[in-house]
Amino acid sequence: MTISPSKCVACGNCTYVCPMGAIYIDPRTRRATINRRECVECYACFNGMSQEHLNPTFVRTARRVFQLFRLRFDPEPDVCPTAAFEPDELQWPRVVRRAFSDPRVPHESTGVEGRGTEEVKTNDVTGRVQAGEVGFTIEFGRPGVGVWFRDIQTLCTELARAGVQFEKKNPITSLMSDVAAGAIREDIMDEKVLSAIVEIKAPVERAEEIIRLVWDVEKRIDTVVAIGVGSRCDRAGEEDIVAPILERLGYKLERAKTNIGLGRITNRQAAGEAQTSGVVR
Ligand code: SF4
Ligand code: SF4
Repeated sequence: MTISPSKCVACGNCTYVCPMGAIYIDPRTRRATINRRECVECYACFNGMSQEHLNPTFVRTARRVFQLFRLRFDPEPDVCPTAAFEPDELQWPRVVRRAFSDPRVPHESTGVEGRGTEEVKTNDVTGRVQAGEVGFTIEFGRPGVGVWFRDIQTLCTELARAGVQFEKKNPITSLMSDVAAGAIREDIMDEKVLSAIVEIKAPVERAEEIIRLVWDVEKRIDTVVAIGVGSRCDRAGEEDIVAPILERLGYKLERAKTNIGLGRITNRQAAGEAQTSGVVR
């Protein structure tokens, strides 16, 4: 994303819209400017603000005249008065930023919009997590922090070393050059995205070990991490294998919501069997 210096009138409205805090008013040029390193190409500025098409020279003159009388001429807070945003034609590898940050763009690898995955919460129809297994969604960057691929890689290589299984239909997995090693393609290491989810599964008896591994790596990377845990319920809708482990680790479990039927049936054997329960930190 770029802002046209010839159109921007430095009203400052867009600086509040950017979830990454990447837009600032440059005191030297007196124009809104985007820090390209921090911009994750989420398009919230371009799509989230109404674009008026006022003449920039007229707006600047009006603002100066009003200032003489100690008055302000400001547009409505959700408006860019001069339609100054100009989306770039994104090339590889920068286009990866938009794929993970603009919720309206589907991921090419999975065809799913948003973070590109249906996650374990659709396990009642996808059957990704089987009896005796525990599934994890490890989410990076939310809210409003973002994550660099090199930090995602740090955790993925540790998880791979621990021998977990990465979910195939996941955008991060599809960007790995070596799934067995948890290695992500070198050419996107310096790309930053709004958020991303790594999905893995492991035998249920390794649940505590995996959670402790994530806790440990989280301290070494520059982002926020949230762990989602999914396991199969019994026919009565209860779960008494993973839940006690989570409680022992300090999580307070409460049944908050039950997701049934949110996904497409991709595993008929699993459909009709037990559901999935989850806890999110
Ligand atoms: S909202 Fe538009 S005119 Fe106002 S500072 Fe941002 S880009 Fe410039
Ligand atoms: S595209 Fe998103 S991250 Fe980039 S400047 Fe606009 S709101 Fe900020």
